[in-house]
Amino acid sequence: MKVLVTGGAGFIGSHIVDALQAAGHTAVVLDNLSTGRKENLPDEVTLHEVDICQRDAVRKVLEQERPDAVCHQAAQMSVGRSVQEPSFDAEVNILGFLNVLEAAAETGVKRIVFASSGGVLYGDVTEPQPETYPANPISPYGISKWAGERYLRFFTAEHGLETVALRYSNVYGPRQNPHGEAGVVAIFCQRMLAGEATRINGDGKYIRDYVYVTDVARANFLALTQTLPEQHIAFNVGTGIGLDVNELSEKLHQFAGEQLKQAGQAIDVPKSTYGPARPGDLRSNLVDAGLLQRTWDWQAKTSLDEGLDETVRWFYADKQQA
Ligand code: NAD
Repeated sequence: MKVLVTGGAGFIGSHIVDALQAAGHTAVVLDNLSTGRKENLPDEVTLHEVDICQRDAVRKVLEQERPDAVCHQAAQMSVGRSVQEPSFDAEVNILGFLNVLEAAAETGVKRIVFASSGGVLYGDVTEPQPETYPANPISPYGISKWAGERYLRFFTAEHGLETVALRYSNVYGPRQNPHGEAGVVAIFCQRMLAGEATRINGDGKYIRDYVYVTDVARANFLALTQTLPEQHIAFNVGTGIGLDVNELSEKLHQFAGEQLKQAGQAIDVPKSTYGPARPGDLRSNLVDAGLLQRTWDWQAKTSLDEGLDETVRWFYADKQQA
């Protein structure tokens, strides 16, 4: 099958492209490269350098490519920016997404898979929550993800599209952009490998459910290729295992130290220090991915230690190439 991956040059999108290509499907990418990188993509994959806010250009790509399915990863994904500029967030995450949905419905696309977020929908929860947990987004970013899911329902009801929302927990792994606000793993990897200081916000007792990117790509692959139990469905994608930033920092400190030692680099990795708490940070957030496991036998295959080690190695290799 042919799949258009919006945001396919980004962190998660490029791993979805890899999974599709490895299974013999054709992936084509629509990305404005605002945070994504061309180098994340294999040479043979067609990249349309287009902004999802450009309605006509989006339609043109869909008309030209005529994909069977669209995997929508492109987004403005900074919660902070969404608070500062709610209209910019809505422009990209709601209106941009509608451009994709309208063009998809008009060009005979059968299925849409949408990157949603468990974190922003469920808020502060101390136990892993299933999809039935009431959504209560508070940031404009969360509101736009929730609106996206409601539009999926509408396009299923009105246009007969098959639609899947995947509600990710905290995704980490190779190719994550360390410059944004998301991705403490990417930020710490980059800084620690350079021997630079890292700072933990507040007391560091902020619990998250970290899921490795290739496991998330596999969830997307299943959502694109398997028969759906319902025409519209939402799945959580996470491990249900909580880890706080203090523990995460310890582990990364160890892996970064080992990597540098192995490479014969005499860089001392400083231990993280503590700074002020960030207002609005959730204390705890975990998702229950039982539905995805029961439906398609999905579960996270990569343990946290394997995933963090791989990620550190990737950031080290990337730094050497820069
Ligand atoms: P990313 O920034 O690496 O990927 C986003 C991609 O979309 C980039 O390649 C970027 O260039 C592209 N893009 C952004 N705005 C665009 C626009 N206007 N037009 C065309 N392309 C545009 O981030 P990611 O972590 O890979 O996130 C992918 C998706 O997963 C996003 O929808 C995000 O909201 C969602 N998500 C991510 C996480 C996480 O932990 N990383 C958690 C929950 C949900």
